[in-house]
Amino acid sequence: MYDVIIIGAGPAGISAGIYVKRANLKVLILYYGESGIEKASRIENYYGFPEGITGKELYNKGIEQAKKIGIEVKKQEITNIEINSHFLFIVKSNKEQFETKSIIIATGSQKIKPNIIRH
Ligand SMILES: Cc1cc2nc3c(=O)[nH]c(=O)nc-3n(C[C@H](O)[C@H](O)[C@H](O)COP(=O)(O)OP(=O)(O)OC[C@H]3O[C@@H](n4cnc5c(N)ncnc54)[C@H](O)[C@@H]3O)c2cc1C
Repeated sequence: MYDVIIIGAGPAGISAGIYVKRANLKVLILYYGESGIEKASRIENYYGFPEGITGKELYNKGIEQAKKIGIEVKKQEITNIEINSHFLFIVKSNKEQFETKSIIIATGSQKIKPNIIRH
């Protein structure tokens, strides 16, 4: 049983995980698939990286940092979330299922192309 399950290991998911862990709560981060940040060839607008950093490197460093402070991180695709009769969330992945009191969904966003028509 977890206090918090975070879905997504991009900047939002990992940052949330770090703060949840610092609050002494039991947290699990689940992620699967590409993060938006991995697509960035070079990031030059982040504090503390004067030389810039590749998106992939920053993504992996985030996951590494979470693990280093004792956060459980698993690579599993979330396919379903249910609420049981005790008002607990059942988070189901393609491999396992987990019980948690709360969920943070940090699965990023999809870009929607504007439907601009040229006349
Ligand atoms: C080409 C490109 C260049 C960019 N360049 C910059 C830049 O230079 N500087 C900058 O600040 N920002 C840049 N960005 C924006 C940056 O990538 C996003 O702001 C950032 O990634 C958003 O973080 P996030 O944690 O919300 O989502 P994401 O980073 O997209 O993370 C989503 C997470 O959710 C997980 N996930 C999704 N669905 C599931 C599922 N069903 N089950 C389990 N896990 C799931 C993914 O595996 C991933 O871990 C760029 C974006 C792109 C596309």
